[in-house]
Amino acid sequence: MSDTMEKLVSLCKRKGFIFQSSEIYGGLNGCWDYGPLGVELLRNIKEAWWRAMTDRDDVEGIDASILMHPRVWEASGHVEGFNDPMVEDSKTNERFRLDHLLEAAGVDCGDLGFEEMKAKIAELGLKSPKGNELTDPRQFNMMFKTHVGPVEDSANVVYLRPETAQGIFVNFLNVQQAMRKKLPFGIAQIGKSFRNEITTKNFLFRTREFEQMEMQYFVKPGEEEKWFDYWREQRFRWFTEALGIPESRLRWHEHGSGELAHYARQAFDVHYEFPFGWDEVEGVHNRGQFDLGQHEEFSGKQLKYFDEAAREKVLPGVVETAIGASRATMMVLAEAYAEEQIKEGDTRTVMRFHPRIAPLKVAILPLVKRDGMPDVARCIEADLRPHLRVFYDESGAIGRRYRRMDEVGTPFCLTVDSDTLQDDTVTIRERDSMAQERVKIADLLGEITRRISAWKRSES
Ligand code: ATP
Repeated sequence: MSDTMEKLVSLCKRKGFIFQSSEIYGGLNGCWDYGPLGVELLRNIKEAWWRAMTDRDDVEGIDASILMHPRVWEASGHVEGFNDPMVEDSKTNERFRLDHLLEAAGVDCGDLGFEEMKAKIAELGLKSPKGNELTDPRQFNMMFKTHVGPVEDSANVVYLRPETAQGIFVNFLNVQQAMRKKLPFGIAQIGKSFRNEITTKNFLFRTREFEQMEMQYFVKPGEEEKWFDYWREQRFRWFTEALGIPESRLRWHEHGSGELAHYARQAFDVHYEFPFGWDEVEGVHNRGQFDLGQHEEFSGKQLKYFDEAAREKVLPGVVETAIGASRATMMVLAEAYAEEQIKEGDTRTVMRFHPRIAPLKVAILPLVKRDGMPDVARCIEADLRPHLRVFYDESGAIGRRYRRMDEVGTPFCLTVDSDTLQDDTVTIRERDSMAQERVKIADLLGEITRRISAWKRSES
């Protein structure tokens, strides 16, 4: 793991963002728990996404169940094709994704199918990272299987969903009819997905249980490309505007022919420059009529939309935007982390979250624990708490309290001091610039709200 990643993982644990799942039992690979600050950050990211999707009249939300009829996964192609190419170290039995090994050896796998990757491994005489022979590559299905009811046999197999999209496709007509939607319209959903990944690594980046935020946009057949371009632009803007990710650390990656999923006609991923390199955060896919067509065939039910103007039934095409909430959280954490030298011999660690998604918005700090300062501070806390996530702290030197807030990315600290008792003002200290200004207590909520909206990431 890179130095920055190690520091980030350690900060996340120390400060209550992310804990290893079942840590006291040695942990479970590929699973993480969100602590008190992590869960706030995750919720804020999900909320930013939900608002961007549903604050418009052409997108509706749903929350489908994780377990679905097993035929869904036959229709979707997952039973047959949701495979990753896998090889093992013949001595240690360690497993690797074939494409990851090839990419580490400098091969661009974008256009390569499974057989071509197999041939490449042989051609290069590639060994495992420990220098041992590799086993024959094979395809590994990533869906987790379980059983419904008390008897474990093949008749009652169900899968933990590997994506949220299918819950949307099977509800397409329910939503369209209940909400009397006209094409084009979208259905948005946030929920858990599960993939039995061959290797999990890089903290929250690739896990076996994760949350996805997906929106499927149903369009008249033939209009897919237009809407594909539209959603690509919308989604890119969301990263910079809602999450404050600089454009310089984002780029598009177009899927080559070997990389395209079985359902996709066109696919572009948003890549972010993580501390371990550029990698995917979101996919925007033109799925054409594949999904609704498959579900019509496998369920025997019509999923066509009646176009009143044209007086005809049509099977809509689909443009999808799919992002991992946990992977987005990983990106936001990585982007926020900074170590700064303030002056000779004095450094600070600061999490520069966009204030809108920062877990805590304001810390309220009485300078000392006497002269009535804690009482005033508690009144300010009571006033602000219904509107903003606030944190009250009266212990330790003020400088140390500021640093603790910097480390968890709290954008504003309010300090109650002896002047407060005279003139009803407090100092407001900004996390990024560390600049302090006096503000009337009565104006605090408006001032903080204004600063949250006006925030721009500083260049350093
Ligand atoms: P990858 O190539 O990284 O395995 P993918 O192309 O299979 O991802 P999609 O099926 O398009 O991913 O899923 C959409 C989004 O869901 C991804 O962009 C990512 O943000 C998230 N995601 C997918 N798999 C995982 C995982 N194992 N852990 C965390 N997030 C994931």
